Amino acid sequence: MSEIHRIKCGNGNCYIISNGKNGILVDTGKREFINQVIEACKLYNVQLIVLTHAHFDHAENAAQISNTLRIPIAMNEKDCSLIESNTSQSLSATTILGRVVLSVSLKDFSTRPIPKFRPDVLLNDCDSLSDYGIDARIISLPGHTNGSIGIEVDNKFLLVGDALMNMFYPTVSMLFHNRSDMLESARKISSYGNRTIYFGHGKLVSNKKWVK
Ligand SMILES: [Zn+2]
Repeated sequence: MSEIHRIKCGNGNCYIISNGKNGILVDTGKREFINQVIEACKLYNVQLIVLTHAHFDHAENAAQISNTLRIPIAMNEKDCSLIESNTSQSLSATTILGRVVLSVSLKDFSTRPIPKFRPDVLLNDCDSLSDYGIDARIISLPGHTNGSIGIEVDNKFLLVGDALMNMFYPTVSMLFHNRSDMLESARKISSYGNRTIYFGHGKLVSNKKWVK
């Protein structure tokens, strides 16, 4: 049995999935929060960093945490271009709030380059994280970015990164590189049924039908 610990980093979250002995860090937060995230990793004996995707607010601290704790970084290969530049995959929005978030994000993308790293582990759909002592599987959730992934834990919890968002209210991702992929990923999340959803932004909710 695992527990999910939320580390609130401003308007974003990272999480530690813990089995009581060791843990996996999911996303790394913005640089303003690095000390808080590293302290939490030590508390839960974190052995691996998983990035749901490589936008700076999730990946900015990856290199430093990996170096400090000497633990590997895992992510999907299709987001490696984002480590070079967060603008390498275009983003769009359809709602008014989405456009506001998009304009703020684009400003940050151009002024906050991610400290460079190369992922040690490349993750794909259905990959198991049991080697790290956690009963969890990777779910491919493209759309917000090409390489977006989620993590299903204990058939109970779903960590979805930015494949869904709860910044203002729980919704499909307000920002997307590919809208039809994003909607398909939201349908995929719904198909898991009774799960607790952990967002990259906002408080957890119960799973539901995300797309009409
Ligand atoms: Zn994102």
